[in-house]
Amino acid sequence: MGQTITASGESGAPATTSDPDCVFCSILAGKIPSAAVRESERIYAFRDIAPQAAVHVLVIPRTHEYANAGEIASGDPELAAELLREAAAVAKGEGLAEGGYRIVLNTGHHAGQTVYHVHAHVLGGEPLGRFGAPE
Ligand code: 5GP
Ligand code: ZN
Repeated sequence: MGQTITASGESGAPATTSDPDCVFCSILAGKIPSAAVRESERIYAFRDIAPQAAVHVLVIPRTHEYANAGEIASGDPELAAELLREAAAVAKGEGLAEGGYRIVLNTGHHAGQTVYHVHAHVLGGEPLGRFGAPE
């Protein structure tokens, strides 16, 4: 509900959707401060407020249109690929490429998804635990 479609004006960038109730849309609008890591025309990367590893960066599209990985892959495959390319670029920029890192795209309740604006978590900077089993 309450979504708005914003033409991006002079830049010629594709239109984006925004939801006033979405925390990531508020970050994109500058209403909630965030620590930027990388920016491109369609993607924004910033540090997670509650890091789960030595390095924990969130990579999001500027549009609210897609809730999860499956939706963005179906709806805009090039944007989905760009999200992953930017996640890898974040990892490289943060010095994680050599040691290795994890990209996580939570989908739905059982996976612990809390923000329904698709986002990739980039985690690393130290050995990571295994995943999948309940605590
Ligand atoms: P999810 O659980 O949906 O996969 O991930 C949402 C992530 O957003 C969580 O890791 C959470 O810590 C992060 N987060 C929620 N609110 C904020 C915020 O206001 N600022 C930042 N930087 N991260 C946030
Ligand atoms: Zn949003």
